[in-house]
Amino acid sequence: MTAEIIDGNAIAGSIRQEIAAEVTGWADRGLRIPGLAVILVGSDPASEVYVRGKRKDCDEVGFHSNVQHLSDHVTQQDLEERILALNEDDSVDGILVQTPLPAHIDEDRIIDCIDPDKDVDGFHAYNMGRLALRRPAFRSCTPKGVMMLLEQLDIEIRGMDAAVIGASNHVGRPMTLELLLAGCTVITAHKFTRDITEKVKLADIVISAVGKPGLVTADWIKPGAVVIDVGITRGEGNRLYGDVDFDGVREVASQITPVPGGVGPMTRVALLKNTLQAAKLHQHLPADED
Ligand code: NAD
Repeated sequence: MTAEIIDGNAIAGSIRQEIAAEVTGWADRGLRIPGLAVILVGSDPASEVYVRGKRKDCDEVGFHSNVQHLSDHVTQQDLEERILALNEDDSVDGILVQTPLPAHIDEDRIIDCIDPDKDVDGFHAYNMGRLALRRPAFRSCTPKGVMMLLEQLDIEIRGMDAAVIGASNHVGRPMTLELLLAGCTVITAHKFTRDITEKVKLADIVISAVGKPGLVTADWIKPGAVVIDVGITRGEGNRLYGDVDFDGVREVASQITPVPGGVGPMTRVALLKNTLQAAKLHQHLPADED
């Protein structure tokens, strides 16, 4: 079997067009167009690339965006005060603090400061709790992007066995909660998991979010499984690598995402969806059914 390659760029592109079409005409109807505020601290090259991408996406769909680029000497208090000011700013629907933050900043406390109704990254404990309780509000962008991608495949995932590899707060854990909500039976593997190959091999859907190139090889995969590679590792010349041994796994899986061009664009479009959702919430417009 040679797996079909899932084109995340194409799927994200069509969702972006839907968002742009929805927002066209808002200003004529007296509505305020969605606004995203991004805080970028320091000069991590990868973070700068991600933030540029977010601005470009906002421009493309007709959202406002504004970026506060702060020195990596910013204090905890200054950063918290900036977030509290954005919470009060009615022109801002979504607030995103680009991670990683410098070591002297307490990231949990920063996320705690964001108004949960503006938490378009879905990282706030309130939004994570809502997802855990099966009443999702703002859902983390990468797991939400993966779910939007799975929805485009011609498969009924309810009742399927899924394996999530990686258990971080931002990706692995909310990914597990999303799949549970969708009716999958989920195994969450992490660095302490024993006999990981046997466990992952039970799964109809495998989602890897670790950051170790070549970790997931063909012998981990049940024939015909769908394989979603969230991992991104930058190699020489800024080349991107996923977690999955793409060429080997492609011969066993039924469908597979590439890196780049798989989950990355879906994460970006999920942020636009969340920002649109926030703008609707703040202007008392009917929400999407998602
Ligand atoms: P993280 O470092 O916070 O978490 C990594 C997880 O992998 C941990 O739970 C750890 O226990 C687990 N792990 C480590 N070694 C393992 C092993 N040998 N076997 C099984 N599990 C192991 O990273 P993160 O923030 O969750 O991100 C994971 C990856 O996803 C990274 O490569 C990151 O760059 C990428 N990422 C991609 C996107 C995207 O849009 N495509 C978005 C966010 C993160």
